[in-house]
Amino acid sequence: MDLVRRPSPILECPGDPLARLGVLADELADGVGPIHFIGLSRYLDDARAVVTHSIDDTTRYVCTCLDTLDAYDIKATVFISTGAPEMGRLWPRLRKAVADGHELGAHSRRHRCTARESLLFCIAALSRYEVHGARRDILAHTQQPYVWTWAYPCGNCADRKFAQRMIALAGCVAARAYPGERGDAHLVPDLQTYDPNPFAARYTQVVQKGYNTEDGVRISGRTDVKALNAKFDEVYAAQGIYSFVSHPQMLDYGPDTFYERHLAHIGGRNDIWYVPMGPLYAYHMLCRHTSVVALKANDAQARFAVFSRLDSRVYRNSVTLEFHATRQPRVTAGGKQLAERTTSMLNRWDGEYVRRAEQRLWLTIRPNTVVEFR
Ligand SMILES: [Zn+2]
Repeated sequence: MDLVRRPSPILECPGDPLARLGVLADELADGVGPIHFIGLSRYLDDARAVVTHSIDDTTRYVCTCLDTLDAYDIKATVFISTGAPEMGRLWPRLRKAVADGHELGAHSRRHRCTARESLLFCIAALSRYEVHGARRDILAHTQQPYVWTWAYPCGNCADRKFAQRMIALAGCVAARAYPGERGDAHLVPDLQTYDPNPFAARYTQVVQKGYNTEDGVRISGRTDVKALNAKFDEVYAAQGIYSFVSHPQMLDYGPDTFYERHLAHIGGRNDIWYVPMGPLYAYHMLCRHTSVVALKANDAQARFAVFSRLDSRVYRNSVTLEFHATRQPRVTAGGKQLAERTTSMLNRWDGEYVRRAEQRLWLTIRPNTVVEFR
């Protein structure tokens, strides 16, 4: 069974999702009416582009880095190794990060690395203790309801199919790679959209200083603000996903530093969705597995059932549906009126609201509901 390119069966609910919604077969309609469903938006609330950040490793600099990200309102996946001695002091700050819309991802318990990767090494590195254990630690110490992501320590084993399958079987929806530092492959993998293989997901570029390894090899960094910003501009122009990776211990902090000048360039834009990696890949999966069918309108202008087989305990995202409407209607989902979207920054993934422009409207809702236009 190929678990790499398809959701694991444990992430799906059995049975008929329409029946679970209480929709009967004779309620289905042909969808011809004053309101037309156009499609699911590529990004939440039909944002123009996406910024997603991940920060790796368990050091005291994680706290400074999170404070800095909050100042620029950028959302990150914090990949932590839960067996590290510093964890005791980090958990309170990480609980605040979860409340603020960041994500905690598993980066094993012990962060075992090697420059000479072997199958035996990878079997140990992907053991239940390291993978399930790190995920369990996050659930036990924080209010985060699920652990969606994994990052391979030092990028080891990311290219091995069995490793990717282990991560999928553990319940993750995505895993981030880190291509070889010793050949400078980690600097600009140049991914500008979703990785077709979410279990060895690359990223656009690193933003961090170089360093020397314990065996004396110089590893390059990427700190030229002009080059960093130009790469972002390229992805933004293509309406893509800009994903960047940093190690908080390889940064400088302060408004004049390369890191913060880059954050200032990419932050604060109201046509960008700022979202951590797990909820981003979950959105992608949920969009591909969400169906919208027209129902008999009854006394409304139009009604639609929006449903998905994916387990809503894992796929907790909202999705955005685009409609064409000649007259702007009032919209309810599950019987409750949807609020108009008011905030300018798009930095969450589970809100429910409606946004309008002329004869278009975008409904952002969690699937498995009936929407009515009145
Ligand atoms: Zn690491």
